[in-house]
Amino acid sequence: MYRAKAHGRARCEIFDEKMLARAQEQLRLETDLHLAMEREEFHVVYQPIIELETDRLRGFEALLRWRHPERGLIPPTKFIPLAEETGLIVPLGNWIFTEACRRLRHWHDLDPRFRELTLAVNLSLRQVYSADLEEEIAALVDEAGLNPMLLHFEITENTLIEHPNQVTKVLLRLKRHGFKVAIDDFGTGYSSLAALQSLPVDLLKIDQVFVARMDESGKARQIVATIVGLARALGHEVIAEGIETDAQLKELRRIHCTLGQGHLFSPPLEGDAVEEEVLTRYYPDLPKPVRREAGARRAR
Ligand code: C2E
Ligand code: MG
Ligand code: MG
Repeated sequence: MYRAKAHGRARCEIFDEKMLARAQEQLRLETDLHLAMEREEFHVVYQPIIELETDRLRGFEALLRWRHPERGLIPPTKFIPLAEETGLIVPLGNWIFTEACRRLRHWHDLDPRFRELTLAVNLSLRQVYSADLEEEIAALVDEAGLNPMLLHFEITENTLIEHPNQVTKVLLRLKRHGFKVAIDDFGTGYSSLAALQSLPVDLLKIDQVFVARMDESGKARQIVATIVGLARALGHEVIAEGIETDAQLKELRRIHCTLGQGHLFSPPLEGDAVEEEVLTRYYPDLPKPVRREAGARRAR
């Protein structure tokens, strides 16, 4: 059933031995996924988002990690679809959001300059359909004492295209609460220009496949430049994802892409490592107690 669904739903798949093995594996993973919450096997990592023209730190994207006791680190691309199918993504999404808000609050408290740091979290389709998403989010943000403007919710372009009415409704409600919204993996779907014009969106995130090809393909560079131009024309900010080389960075700066994230700046890191490696790099004059506290927390 999962396979038929994955290949476009409303179709048949013949069940064979290979598929049985895969189904059993899937079932095991699903059982483990349910236990993982209780066993506290999830953790959050944070990847910095950089203002490309000034090289200043804008904020972070929170990404989920699952450390399985036997299989090691399982990538989100493998377990998020499963969490989505089983509905577990709703409590899991709540958990990551609570964790990330606490961490952002902690950073805000470390130094007054950190109070402008933003936090982006990914929203999946199930979350978009859950009845009291915005109220729950708003309550958590309020509890953490954060300014809603600093919280960004990312929804993929494909989710948006497949469920335009529901997604638009939820984005509007999130914006009414003062949150910002971003279209993730932009360029991989086929948004119509008419739809884009009326969408309640603040940021476009250029999918990393285009950025990855920029070094060797003039066409990829053109596509990226076109998306940057489009975002500017629509009054949105634009983030290039997956920046890995100096050449990509140089070209992105040349075409005035405002924001970027990628391994060239930093991979996603655990909260304590962010304090030690990212905050101290972008704020070299940090007062000593902050450095010491970050170091001590890491040693523990
Ligand atoms: P995404 O939201 O587009 O996140 C960006 C992905 O690109 C992350 O993969 C990040 O680690 C990776 N990345 C960042 N810089 C580079 C780079 O320079 N090179 C390369 N090759 N990759 C880079 P990750 O963490 O494996 O997440 C994959 C996807 O899983 C995310 O794509 C997002 O769609 C989903 N995901 C992750 N965490 C969550 C979550 O908490 N909730 C939901 N709903 N989805 C999540
Ligand atoms: Mg994202
Ligand atoms: Mg993306």
